[in-house]
Amino acid sequence: MEHYDILVAGAGVSGICAAIQAGRLLGNNKVCLVEKNGLTGGTATVAGVNYPGIFHAWGKQVIKGIGWELIEKTYEAWGRTIPDHYYSNDDSIPHWKMHVRIDAMLFAAITDRELADAGVKLKLHTMPGKVQFNGDHYIVTLCGKDGLYDVKANYLIDCTGDANLAFLAGAKLNTPEVCQPGTISCYAIGYEPATLDWKEIETNFYKEVENGNLQLDDFGWGKAFSRGFIGSRGNNATHINDINAFNSENKTKIELAGRACLLRIFKFLKKQKGFENLEFKPLGGECGVRETRTIQGLYKITVEDYVKAVDFEDAICHSFYPIDLHDKEKGLDFKKLDKGKVPQVPLRSLIPKNIPQFLAAGRIISSDRLANSALRVQATCMATGQAAAVAATLAIKTKTQPQNLPLQDIKNTLRQFNAIVP
Ligand SMILES: Cc1cc2nc3c(=O)[nH]c(=O)nc-3n(C[C@H](O)[C@H](O)[C@H](O)COP(=O)(O)OP(=O)(O)OC[C@H]3O[C@@H](n4cnc5c(N)ncnc54)[C@H](O)[C@@H]3O)c2cc1C
Repeated sequence: MEHYDILVAGAGVSGICAAIQAGRLLGNNKVCLVEKNGLTGGTATVAGVNYPGIFHAWGKQVIKGIGWELIEKTYEAWGRTIPDHYYSNDDSIPHWKMHVRIDAMLFAAITDRELADAGVKLKLHTMPGKVQFNGDHYIVTLCGKDGLYDVKANYLIDCTGDANLAFLAGAKLNTPEVCQPGTISCYAIGYEPATLDWKEIETNFYKEVENGNLQLDDFGWGKAFSRGFIGSRGNNATHINDINAFNSENKTKIELAGRACLLRIFKFLKKQKGFENLEFKPLGGECGVRETRTIQGLYKITVEDYVKAVDFEDAICHSFYPIDLHDKEKGLDFKKLDKGKVPQVPLRSLIPKNIPQFLAAGRIISSDRLANSALRVQATCMATGQAAAVAATLAIKTKTQPQNLPLQDIKNTLRQFNAIVP
């Protein structure tokens, strides 16, 4: 049976940083990364959200480490320079301009290379199906294209975005009754926004809603016509509501609902003046999911902790983002952080409260919905992935549960790999 020190599930931005960090600490073939898709990067690549943020706050960098290294290497391969406005202290710059736009395919290719260089065993098109704890190690039943097989692992790190591995291992989870909408993006071409008759399009939109050919929320942002989809050329504009896509059944529902929405929009726009040459190009292809479940950790980050930027003794990274809850009725519950505030993430929010030898990273860390609406962004996910790997590695090496590790050892190791630790 294959035996790994650490098995990471999910190769989104949190999982790749976790696996690379663990591989660099443990060496060849000690770390396994299991991913259900054929492409690394998760939401950043398969859902077209190729603009990770936010790494800088109030004029200085607050998140770095392996995630930032991957971005720098992507820019180098791309032959571009990372714009320097990120270091600006000007808080009139809107938060979305602080995301670092990357070429998704280059990012995935660089990631693949760094995973290989770190000696990580990458298993694409593979999912965990069963998890058993046998006293001091886990047996994980994986499903590949060739069927089921077991692997042994001392530590597990859940980076699935949906807490799937934690669920299989018996962790307690929080599943919100209502969750943020998903978004399917595309790249819409063949029209010129400056030449459009917006009034006419808006009037026709409501007529088609009445005729049953469009839904009121098809153009996202509440129940009304919005210029967002057309203006952004289909990027990050639709809102697919009322589906918590944590499992395969609901993932299927959200993909189908997303594509049906794009089809309605396409048919509608194609009939409008100026859209005769309209085309939708895929941008990742999957419906992006903002929220599903979080783990119940040793500590739950609250929105008060977040906006007050509470100092945690066991802080392992920063997080920087406005409170940003997309709501079906209200549109956006949005609040900028007060000047100078840089929230922190404590190690305890990565540790499930009821299972051993297990860590979580990315958007599923223990947090309330409003705190999660901010810390779910990619820079924080990358930093928590790296920190989870350091904690798991030190825990293995010293045979100590992560919450009992000397904090200084975790912080020093993270700093050795260029992470910024509060
Ligand atoms: C529409 C939209 C817009 C956003 N805008 C921004 C933005 O502007 N800037 C920003 O920084 N963030 C943004 N975010 C948030 C951010 O992209 C995500 O929260 C973040 O990428 C989550 O990273 P993750 O590693 O936790 O999970 P994911 O990126 O979801 O990665 C999880 C990975 O695990 C795999 N996986 C899932 N289940 C299993 C399983 N059972 N077995 C094996 N593999 C599995 C998935 O295929 C995926 O590769 C946005 C999100 C959405 C949906």
